[in-house]
Amino acid sequence: MDKNAVMAGLKVYEGELKALRHDIHMHPETSYEEFRTSALVMEKLSAWGIQAEGTIAGTGVVATIKGSRPGQRAIALRADMDALNMDETNTFGHRSTIPGKMHGCGHDGHTTMLLGAARYLKENPDFAGTVHCIFQPAEEGGAGGKRMIDEGLFERFPSDAVYSLHNKPGLEVGKFITRKGPQLACADSWTVTFKGTGGHGGAPEKSTDTTIPLAHFILGLQSIIARNVPALDSAVLSIGIIRAGTSHNVIPAEIQVTGTSRCHKPEVRALLEKRLREIAQHCAAMSDCSAVVDYVQGYPPVINAPRETDTAIAAIAALVGSGNVDGDSPPINAADDIAYMLEKRPGCNVMIGNGKGPSFKNNHMPDYDFNDDILVLGAAYWVSLVHQELNAAT
Ligand SMILES: [Zn+2]
Ligand SMILES: [Zn+2]
Repeated sequence: MDKNAVMAGLKVYEGELKALRHDIHMHPETSYEEFRTSALVMEKLSAWGIQAEGTIAGTGVVATIKGSRPGQRAIALRADMDALNMDETNTFGHRSTIPGKMHGCGHDGHTTMLLGAARYLKENPDFAGTVHCIFQPAEEGGAGGKRMIDEGLFERFPSDAVYSLHNKPGLEVGKFITRKGPQLACADSWTVTFKGTGGHGGAPEKSTDTTIPLAHFILGLQSIIARNVPALDSAVLSIGIIRAGTSHNVIPAEIQVTGTSRCHKPEVRALLEKRLREIAQHCAAMSDCSAVVDYVQGYPPVINAPRETDTAIAAIAALVGSGNVDGDSPPINAADDIAYMLEKRPGCNVMIGNGKGPSFKNNHMPDYDFNDDILVLGAAYWVSLVHQELNAAT
């Protein structure tokens, strides 16, 4: 791959890509409602002569580009399209036009970068094999990636590997990070309901008191992290909601406590759930109460495969030099539903520096924005990755 030719080729589209990114940013759409965005993606692909299917998981789009040389290998490149339910405080011209909705995570940029790459690959199909570009709905909590899989994503678009790219505010423009193995956390939620008889605050001996198991449970919960999770593994258990009581002199008959658990390994995830259930039951039994545990598994951890991570690192190094990619960056406690695709196919999630400017502080902040200066570089990463994956023998 001639990196200068790729960058120059993509630079030709830069103005159009910026306009496209601004258009998507101005019209943010949340989970499974990405109708305008999906139609825009389909319109662009069609204008560039790229074959695409546009209704998988409702608004999801998959575009297929075949290389000019024969090859059996196929890879999938995934971008997310959805926005967040939040108000934007930016005042620039391309700010959100829809109250209460904002592209606060940069998925407008992810969609645009992949569109740029798709166009370039269609015009420069100098590779052996097939590339599927996945534009998925509902990454922000709606598990759009899982729904695409459930609707036959990898049967309809057979892929040997799957890759994704997410922007990283605070990381300099031109830098990339990734890591082999667990990279992003799982995000589970749970509610424990302690049930007793409740009773008169002045006569606790005549009731079973749910506040006592709650107190033991809160302390016991943190002993899972301190005493059960291996010291070199990471895990977090946090309580966000406690609901109980109606009056200072009434012992509550029911208490609900709700929280989240995060970790990076499937075995630690199973351990957290098992011990949380046990501690809740035993704390309840100590006070002659009962406990009902509702444990909801959210996104699984993002686990990058060794071979595909090496391939991604090589693709970045070919573009910006090995000094600009940290291939062993620390795990992050955010989640991403690319995890579902990575459970089905080996692959790698890469994060691209969004820069350190005041607008690029952090995802999900009301004054965040995707950095237009990385549109070409992000698209170039995709092209470099395709060459690395499908032109390795040449
Ligand atoms: Zn997000
Ligand atoms: Zn995101």
